[in-house]
Amino acid sequence: MGRHTWDLRPSPTSQSLQSAQSSRSAQSAQSSAQEAQQIVNLTELLVSRISDFEAARPNILRAVPCCEVLRSLGGALRGIRPRRNPSFTTATIMEFWSHSWHGGVWIKVLTMFMLKNGPMAVCFGWLGALLMAALFATGMLPSYERVPFLQTGARMYPFGPWSLCTATLVATFTLRCWRRKTSVFLDVLCIDQDDARLKTEALLSIGAFLKKSQSLHVFWDETWVRRLWCVFELAAFIKSHGKEDVAANLVIRPTLLGTCSVSIFGGCFVTSLAFLCVPFDDFELGYVLFAVGAFLGSYYAISSMRRFYASVEILLQQLAGFRLEQALSHCCTTGHRNSDGEVVMCDREIIQLCISKWFGSVEQFEASVRSDLSGALSDQLGNGSFSYLWLILVTSPIQWSHLDMVAARLSADDWSGAAVTATINLTYACWAFPSICRFAMLLACRARHPCSGFVADQLKTLMVFSLCVPISLVFTTLLPGRSNADMLS
Ligand SMILES: [Zn+2]
Repeated sequence: MGRHTWDLRPSPTSQSLQSAQSSRSAQSAQSSAQEAQQIVNLTELLVSRISDFEAARPNILRAVPCCEVLRSLGGALRGIRPRRNPSFTTATIMEFWSHSWHGGVWIKVLTMFMLKNGPMAVCFGWLGALLMAALFATGMLPSYERVPFLQTGARMYPFGPWSLCTATLVATFTLRCWRRKTSVFLDVLCIDQDDARLKTEALLSIGAFLKKSQSLHVFWDETWVRRLWCVFELAAFIKSHGKEDVAANLVIRPTLLGTCSVSIFGGCFVTSLAFLCVPFDDFELGYVLFAVGAFLGSYYAISSMRRFYASVEILLQQLAGFRLEQALSHCCTTGHRNSDGEVVMCDREIIQLCISKWFGSVEQFEASVRSDLSGALSDQLGNGSFSYLWLILVTSPIQWSHLDMVAARLSADDWSGAAVTATINLTYACWAFPSICRFAMLLACRARHPCSGFVADQLKTLMVFSLCVPISLVFTTLLPGRSNADMLS
């Protein structure tokens, strides 16, 4: 939630706000004691309006299609105002997006793209991969002869990384351009930023926005828990939905998830490309060349995994020691004066009173966040963010390169070789690579704490990579492949 002041000018539909406004307009002519009393009265009025989860007037609930939030690479989140207001009135909102304006913008936008468009991007990538595999198998695309790693038939096959490269391009394009229509609440697009009265009415209705939202999606960075309005959104969602509903519909994802996922995806692409291009007629040399490609592809991925788990640890610490008083509000940092020197009301007071009304006391709300929520969310923040399905998704380039390997056999009319390669590669894709990836994440989690020096920190990442090499070798030699190719061919 952004900066604001409570503007209570006359509203044609709100009698109570009219009386509040008339008393406020008389402030300048009255004593400071009267002024203070009026602020108390206004505070009580605001608290009663917000805490009952009712909208200030009909048709104030607004949402935007997800694609409008992501338009212009998340322009709305980077302070770019859309030419026309993309929001629409609605009775229910599918996803309420809660985020802090004080964290990194680009990593947050990337995470939104990955979470919302990532699965569709991979689906379209697969369509591109299958199409190119069919074209390659029928001899319609250029190729180069090479000795493959998996010797499941002939010694040499015509190869081409067509599925891998096309699918990656299609997936990247879909990630950027897919227009997902899910209705979303994003403060800057669903609350009028120009009309102070409309803005105040929307803020008065923030409880109603949360009550009418089917799920709350938190894009969590280190600053989120320190922003009073973000914490308030969480409190309002818990109160208006009940514990069981909250467990099912509260989705918390660290904003580093996008960077980490993209770096794993990129690492898999580079490694797979090396695997498709390196000739294995001199096996040792081929393996060294492949290892260089794998190192270049994996190093940054491991580094970002370490940063991801370091951020998750900070988030869990923040949850475990959660105190409402640590959260900041813009009004308090400006001494409750606007740019014209006028007194503005304190958000903190209003929010604390609402929370006390809902949970009995601020302390009870804090205890609820520390115990119930912290336990439920610890898995979401760590392994839940990287579920098996998500790992399959971010390691897609490996599967697409496997399709190229099958297409190579098919183009040489080696159907049995293609069937064996497909079976082996399916096992790799569904079991070996997600397991290697999970092992790498486990090591990265263990080595998450950053070192003080740059070189020392890079060495720590290098150490994680080095430890992943033997486990990768174990996995790849356990499976049928080069080692027992004679048996299969
Ligand atoms: Zn304040």
